[in-house]
Amino acid sequence: MSEPSSLEIDRQHIWHPYSSIGSDNPVFHVKSAKGCELELSDGRRILDGMASWWSVIHGYNHPEMNAALKQQIDTVSHVMFGGLTHDPAIRLTEKLIAMTDPSLEAVFFSDSGSVSVEVAMKMAIQFWASQGQTGKQKFLTVRNGYHGDTFGAMSVCDPVNGMHSLFASMLTQQFFAPAPATPFGEVASDEDLKAMKAMLQSHHGEIAAIIIEPVVQGAGGMRFYSADYLNRLREMADEYQVLLIFDEIATGFGRSGKLFAYEHTQIVPDILCLGKALTGGYMTLAATMTSRRISRQINEGSPGVFMHGPTFMGNPLACTAALTSLTLLEQSGWQARVNAIEAGLKQGLAPCAELETVNEVRVLGAIGVVELKEPVDMRYIQGKFVDAGIWVRPFGKLVYVMPPFVMTPEEIERLTAAIHRVITVHHRP
Ligand code: PMP
Repeated sequence: MSEPSSLEIDRQHIWHPYSSIGSDNPVFHVKSAKGCELELSDGRRILDGMASWWSVIHGYNHPEMNAALKQQIDTVSHVMFGGLTHDPAIRLTEKLIAMTDPSLEAVFFSDSGSVSVEVAMKMAIQFWASQGQTGKQKFLTVRNGYHGDTFGAMSVCDPVNGMHSLFASMLTQQFFAPAPATPFGEVASDEDLKAMKAMLQSHHGEIAAIIIEPVVQGAGGMRFYSADYLNRLREMADEYQVLLIFDEIATGFGRSGKLFAYEHTQIVPDILCLGKALTGGYMTLAATMTSRRISRQINEGSPGVFMHGPTFMGNPLACTAALTSLTLLEQSGWQARVNAIEAGLKQGLAPCAELETVNEVRVLGAIGVVELKEPVDMRYIQGKFVDAGIWVRPFGKLVYVMPPFVMTPEEIERLTAAIHRVITVHHRP
């Protein structure tokens, strides 16, 4: 009997995100990657429109990132963070504090976006508990949100998209207001915040914080909404004595056209979650940032410490990747690059809006979305995108891209033209 091929081993034994083992859905074998291209093991090179789910902002196989990580491997790859510290974590912390609002001065490093959300939720609960308010243990959020796949994070994901019902008995029932309806660039109406206000009025005694993805709702629908909505949310959070958590795991580091999406607003959150592009997509790392007021208050309560501490907290390799990535970001003229990508996506995706099958085309910063009228047939369309020379991974009715910031105008044109070609002939066989 012949040996099974690599892809057959993968098919028989490995779960991919939201997949079933043994499924016939296509999986493509990546041999290497450079710049904005993935090289498949059959020799094809495809242009990556996804930046590996928002993260690879400087492109693949970046010489400076590679050099910094190789040097760090020869220094120290990992050391526990309990009772020990190191320069990569210290320098990265300095950089994060300098990049974000001056009020955000305390940093907790964790392994992934979902965990940074768990950490943020625990911070909010401990902040209130330390003042004797032990009843404030729930969260208020909006529909269409996505915050990760761990239990705390899942409890604040959209109850329908997040498939809550499967895990209902394990999940805390949180408070959900409708998704913000006011479009990006417009002033929020009282009506849009009415349900939120009513829930705060009735339940603020149970609510530790509001948690929301600012301006861009990502995996829960790729929706862009009013920054002013968030200004109003800040006022309400203060009025009703709840904290405000912004999940910028997807939007952070330039993606929405501002360095952080909260910069579209006039306000700052109490707690900020960062991940994905933090390391330029090289390693997994996330950060939860908060204010001195909150870190001090947590110290003052019992047990006087913040109750979280993962094994790989502040991993030196991951911190080095992040420090190098953020330095590159600052030096790269990211604003001009993101503006150019925004212009290229608007122009290149505009013809999609003319198609019968398309509901809406929207672009913000380096994010382009083609919302179809019907869900795509993944088994059919995934291969068609690859045949067209691009890597685009739709979900449901959404064909969307968030390219690496180093993608050139010509490549953006190639990417958008290929999307248009594929969805023009797309049909459900
Ligand atoms: N929050 C948001 C807004 C996200 O987009 C994601 C990832 N898609 C997460 C949290 C979870 O991050 P991770 O997959 O790294 O756990």
